[in-house]
Amino acid sequence: MQFFQGYLYALRLKPQKEALLRRWVGCRRWVWNEALAFQRAELEAGRGRPTYAELCARLPVLKKANPWLADPPAQALQQTLKDLCEAWDKHRTSGAGAPRFKARGEGESLRFVQDLVYDAPGGRIRLPKLGFVRMRHSRVAEGVLKNATVRQERGRWVVSLQMRRDVDEPLPVGTAAVGLDFGVATTIMPSAGAPIELPARLSKYERRIKRLQQGLTRKAKGSKNRRKARCRLARCHAKAVALRRDFLHKATTALVEQHALIAIEDLRVQQMTRSSAGTGDRPGKCVKRKRGLNRTILRQGWGLARRMLEYKGARRGVRVVAVEAAFTSQTCAACSHVDRANRRTRSAFACVACGHHDQADRNAAKNILARALASLVSGQSSHLDVCRPVRAR
Ligand SMILES: [Zn+2]
Repeated sequence: MQFFQGYLYALRLKPQKEALLRRWVGCRRWVWNEALAFQRAELEAGRGRPTYAELCARLPVLKKANPWLADPPAQALQQTLKDLCEAWDKHRTSGAGAPRFKARGEGESLRFVQDLVYDAPGGRIRLPKLGFVRMRHSRVAEGVLKNATVRQERGRWVVSLQMRRDVDEPLPVGTAAVGLDFGVATTIMPSAGAPIELPARLSKYERRIKRLQQGLTRKAKGSKNRRKARCRLARCHAKAVALRRDFLHKATTALVEQHALIAIEDLRVQQMTRSSAGTGDRPGKCVKRKRGLNRTILRQGWGLARRMLEYKGARRGVRVVAVEAAFTSQTCAACSHVDRANRRTRSAFACVACGHHDQADRNAAKNILARALASLVSGQSSHLDVCRPVRAR
């Protein structure tokens, strides 16, 4: 079995090299915006959108007019054009927004695909035109290095190494089957066993973020104090994000190590978190309530957890099945009676037909597992299987 695995490391850059990277991401942004403007102009003129090859062919001309564009490695600029074309493709096929112009601080990354050397014993990576750079080498990246992406992540530079790995067809370690409910009252509720909760420290960070945000609005625009406050806020954000990601990694790894089948709800997180504010003519319903729920969902990172389960499951031979989400919270796990009245409060489930009592998320998790097992038995699960290999660039 072959798959791609990403490894993320913080870079330990000398100021001189950091300055170079800063200049290069500026060049990247300029190339992106220039190419996008060119594509838009061609589209408006009715000549069709210029392709990746056509955009690449313009690079030498641009470099002649703007000599500083020759500074960054040419491959990084070509990858930018590739990203732009992929953004258009995504817009056409999956309804994502059309590519936009990038402002300073947006999408500042550089991808290198050639001339890379990964020095594992030395904990270094050689990047084109930059030479060897030391990393906070927390673990050895296994496999064959395919590409490296350097970006600034809230105040520090990181590199993501994408490795191609070949392993034997894996067999699951665990044997049990579990249903998972990504709940509102609890973070992850399994159909059996203890609930998995977000670390309490996270809410501390969230309170601090709120306070820092309020402080930021009181600072004069363009002032030094405002800039400092923005840095503090960004650092706090970074910590909260890292904490959540770490929690999800540990939780999902433990889950795939202990089970052979994991059933989850096929939630459309993007749909669920879409703003409910509506438009001027048609204001949305329950705006305030939904806003609160949106925050909770995003906070708990359902989408991220699901992606982790998918790829980790695929690598360990664990079957991850997503089932229809409708009514899992209103159905009784004991007698299958579906009734809105079964949910008296947000966290308590009490069946009006048979009197079955349970924690609401636990009851839902049991339903999710039962649905997955039923779909496997009836052989209808093929379109619900979510084990997709990670696509390489
Ligand atoms: Zn019942």
